[in-house]
Amino acid sequence: LVRLRARLAGSQGGFGRGLLRLLSRERLDEDTWESIEDVLLTADIGVAPTQQIVENLRTRLRVDGTEAGDPRSVLRDELLAVVDPDMDRRLQVSGEDGVPGVVLVVGVNGSGKTTTVGKISRILVAEDRTVTLGAADTFRAAAVDQLATWGERVGVEVVRGKEGTDPASVAFEAVKHGIEAGVDTVIVDTAGRLQNKQGLMDELGKVKRVIEKQARVTEVLLVIDATTGQNGLVQARVFRDVVDVTGIVLTKLDGSAKGGIVVAVQRELGVPVKLVGLGEGPDDLAPFDAGAFVDALLG
Ligand code: GDP
Repeated sequence: LVRLRARLAGSQGGFGRGLLRLLSRERLDEDTWESIEDVLLTADIGVAPTQQIVENLRTRLRVDGTEAGDPRSVLRDELLAVVDPDMDRRLQVSGEDGVPGVVLVVGVNGSGKTTTVGKISRILVAEDRTVTLGAADTFRAAAVDQLATWGERVGVEVVRGKEGTDPASVAFEAVKHGIEAGVDTVIVDTAGRLQNKQGLMDELGKVKRVIEKQARVTEVLLVIDATTGQNGLVQARVFRDVVDVTGIVLTKLDGSAKGGIVVAVQRELGVPVKLVGLGEGPDDLAPFDAGAFVDALLG
């Protein structure tokens, strides 16, 4: 929590703290409510949740001398409600009957996919699970090399094809290798070319189909760069339409003033944010905890 708070506060000054300052004014007049709305919208929370929060705050903090609640705890409640503390955020990484679970990692180039695959493998290995990585982002030679470097660093095997190999064949080989090696989990990094929806659908569809000939895809993680704001939401919609996303990884939250994107993207896709990226280092990926996140926002 301390680290999360430092990371969020370092870059964004915590929009929660801005809200608290406004709510602590002696008189909560219309100007103040408008400013509160602005802060929430600027943080990318989205229109509907902003309205919900403001309406509830107005009711619960009405300053008629009798029932005004404590601004901090009321605000914490309301932020927590829109982040949705009850979503199941556990990663589904285990297979069954001796066959590994397969985690497919998708997202546009530059979102932090490859880095995230490396970081997840590190987390799993630290939990004593065995992992194989599939470098199916074959259109970017650098991505394959980058994943190979992660593999060496974490001590897991990386199955790679030559540059330009069909991504689906690399995914197939990675799963085959994972089964032979008897690992718990295979994580497949995919190409994120958003050339057009049909192309993406064909490619990811094929990758998924070949994997499912041998094993079950237990998790499809969509990686979204938190600093891209509304653009990230547009991308999220495209991916949702082509593949059944089961969880979101929100990267670069350390560099974003827009922590509210957590709320917006969860609403948009109807699936939970499961992990957040808080930096470029190997340990800078954390399970998303709604309570800790809201506390960090409030500073
Ligand atoms: P890909 O093209 O989606 O595979 O993206 P990469 O994994 O290559 O990441 C793109 C850049 O974003 C790299 O420079 C990463 O170090 C950086 N990056 C990834 N995740 C994070 C994060 O959580 N925070 C920050 N600050 N940078 C990140």
